[in-house]
Amino acid sequence: MIDYRITFLGTAASTFSLKRNPTSILVTIRERSILLDCGEGVTSRLLRGKIDINTIDAVFISHGHNDHFVGISSFLWYNWLALRRKHSLEIIAPEYIFQDIDTLLSITHTPRDAFEFPLKRTPLVGDSDATIHPLDLGFPPPLKGEIGISFQTINTIHDPPSRAIRINIDVNDLGGEPRGEASICYTSDTAPSDNIISLAKNCDYLIHEATFLDEDMEKAIQFNHSTPSMAGSIARRAGVKHLVLVHYSNMLEGKETTILEQASREFPKEKIVVASDLDIIRGSM
Ligand SMILES: [Zn+2]
Ligand SMILES: [Zn+2]
Repeated sequence: MIDYRITFLGTAASTFSLKRNPTSILVTIRERSILLDCGEGVTSRLLRGKIDINTIDAVFISHGHNDHFVGISSFLWYNWLALRRKHSLEIIAPEYIFQDIDTLLSITHTPRDAFEFPLKRTPLVGDSDATIHPLDLGFPPPLKGEIGISFQTINTIHDPPSRAIRINIDVNDLGGEPRGEASICYTSDTAPSDNIISLAKNCDYLIHEATFLDEDMEKAIQFNHSTPSMAGSIARRAGVKHLVLVHYSNMLEGKETTILEQASREFPKEKIVVASDLDIIRGSM
């Protein structure tokens, strides 16, 4: 049996609310993890969730907005000073993000060569195309040929350029026969996008942003974001099994019932999760 978990560390858009941190999601497969986005406060959320940060092999940063990115500095400092990390960490991000990371480390006076662990940089190129890009990661270490994990990314409709990611987990028996599969797609920030429909096709969990309510649809489009029913429509057209909503603006605080109602205009209510910080979705194959 292969277990996986999706832990929601931050489900707020743009900035903090009383109940929510900016965006970060941890996907764990057999006790190895990849962090999807790195909003401010992510390290303290990981600690509060009693998550062993040593098990995080890679960090995917979708784009350079404040709510997805600035937690990387304190996350790296924690790995350096608290964990004394020695094993490698991979950062996957659009190419321009690496300059931003260097700037962030510079203005926080991070000593050069401070980190004793290899920091591997995997830049995502092709900011404007509609291609599904396969992503070659060494995550997690091979597990006796029993499990295969593949990653794909695609551009979304957002400014600055942002990527969605899909994680596919395939389980074979030791003879190589398929035994089960699971797939998780995370949109990060986007207006409703055909690219997301092609990336998320038939996946088990589509984690889609819902920054504004339906009554603010025009504002959502203007700022390259989505509403609950827009996310529901994408989920229906992609044929996904479950829709998980995240990335709510401050105006949506306490409106979880409305978010669910609006998403269910387009997608079956019983298959929708309105995620909160430190919620965990568990699956197995
Ligand atoms: Zn955002
Ligand atoms: Zn954004």
